[in-house]
Amino acid sequence: MAVSDTPTRAGASGGTAAPRPAARAARKPRGEGQWAVGHREPLNPNERTKKDDNPLNVRARIENIYARGGFASIDPQDLRGRFRWWGLYTQRKAGIDGGRTAVLEPHELEDEYFMLRVRIDGGQLNLAQLRVIADISQEFARDTADITDRQNIQLHWIRVEDMPEIWRRLEAVGLETTEACGDCPRIVLGSPVAGVAADELLDPTSAIDEIVARYVGDPAFSNLPRKFKSSISWLADTPYEVNDVSFVGVDHPEHGPGFDLWVGGGLSTNPMLAQRLGVWVPLSEVPDVWVGVVSIFRDYGYRRLRHRARLKFLVADWGVEKFREILEKEYLGRTMLDGPAPELPGKPIDHIGVHEQKDGRSYVGAAPVVGRVSGSQLARLADVVEAAGSDRVRLTPYQKLLVLDLESDRVEPLVTALREIGLEARPSAWRRGTMACTGIEYCKLAIVETKARGMELVARLEERLREFDADISIHINGCPNACARTQVADIGLKGQLVVGPDGRQVEGYQVHLGGGLGMAQGQTAGFGRKLRGLKTTAEELPEYVERLARRYLAGRTDGE
Ligand code: SF4
Repeated sequence: MAVSDTPTRAGASGGTAAPRPAARAARKPRGEGQWAVGHREPLNPNERTKKDDNPLNVRARIENIYARGGFASIDPQDLRGRFRWWGLYTQRKAGIDGGRTAVLEPHELEDEYFMLRVRIDGGQLNLAQLRVIADISQEFARDTADITDRQNIQLHWIRVEDMPEIWRRLEAVGLETTEACGDCPRIVLGSPVAGVAADELLDPTSAIDEIVARYVGDPAFSNLPRKFKSSISWLADTPYEVNDVSFVGVDHPEHGPGFDLWVGGGLSTNPMLAQRLGVWVPLSEVPDVWVGVVSIFRDYGYRRLRHRARLKFLVADWGVEKFREILEKEYLGRTMLDGPAPELPGKPIDHIGVHEQKDGRSYVGAAPVVGRVSGSQLARLADVVEAAGSDRVRLTPYQKLLVLDLESDRVEPLVTALREIGLEARPSAWRRGTMACTGIEYCKLAIVETKARGMELVARLEERLREFDADISIHINGCPNACARTQVADIGLKGQLVVGPDGRQVEGYQVHLGGGLGMAQGQTAGFGRKLRGLKTTAEELPEYVERLARRYLAGRTDGE
């Protein structure tokens, strides 16, 4: 008897009987759309769009057709699908409240402008690049710029007509927007102090550069089941537990410095922490192992349901032993060496303040508020960095920035100059630890405001609880997608509508308490507890955080 995949409601269509237990048992499990087991036909519209035309091909249409014809000339499949492969998303139309996010059609939510992500792999920028981004922001993006928690810079108010000129300027200084979004290898996170950290044994920048040069923009890897996030760092100063693949520095007792391989991390609505495969990878093999992991994802990743398509679901189903076996047998053709676990720092490392480099010079880490800067501020930053005798700026995955290579007599003048342009190297705990995603100002998926709330929160807490002296992380997110890592903060805030004092729905947050990353041996990284009733309105957020902080100060033990 043929068994349909389509569920039926017994009796609803005039007498279809419920399947008997034996028939139910015989039903074939639905495929997950994995290419490696023969599913090549798209099972959802996203897969269809990617199969119909490689998304990278949209670049030529933007340059030759849409930039001339304007927004109205853009094919919807390109607009809401393939544009992302070049870092472009349509921006939320101003004035649409969060209550309508889920009910409006995409075209009703978007305006005719774009958000543009510039990928800055490893967060490494020189002054020429910084000046080009600053100029583009001022000329084409209404002076907007956000440092994201993936070390990108995100611009807003971009018109499709300006994209050819924007690409020309970015590419002239070695920057790109290629695969800054989309179902492909996104920016590779790297330590902001790679190459200069006093306690770094191995600088992996060459591996990051090789991966970007060889595989970003390669059509062989531009149709993955979903986004693919990477991190490669000697220090555990990137959020390596929440990436699809991470290489974390480890000193092998026999083989020396190399990298420990983690796979399958990711947050969003089904958060999972990455797991160690227990292998040691020498620096020279990092690109090959990285492409092996991406290839597993491409070939075996689930393509039926978007919300089950990240690599973490495959890793969870297979387990790390099977994942390692497939990687070795089918993709590398050799066995990898077993390796020890890396030493982990016990808390996130953000590099804020003044620190010595391995060459005796210094670097300074400074904080904007919730990553928000502007083109004119970045232009002034380039001036003060140049005046301090440096050519190198780094962005961090905590929405902060670093200035490298400072002689000792340049450090304090630079700290003062940064303060004058709104970047603080000695910030309050509140400014240092607060991050916010894009939120309702520009994001079509948002339910609530985030950046402005975050700035207000920091200002209020600095006014009322300046003396707070502990490390604290507060991550503000505009919806359940957790772009600002809701679940791994001391106080993680997930935007949603909540009932206000007068009984009406208002902007607010569900609170996750006690999450953390970068845990030392013996401790475990973990997700904050999401307590069902724990919610606050956006209006009451400063008082709520202040109450929590005061309670913590009153109750903490010596040394805590
Ligand atoms: Fe947009 Fe939600 Fe991500 Fe914030 S968490 S940037 S609101 S998708």
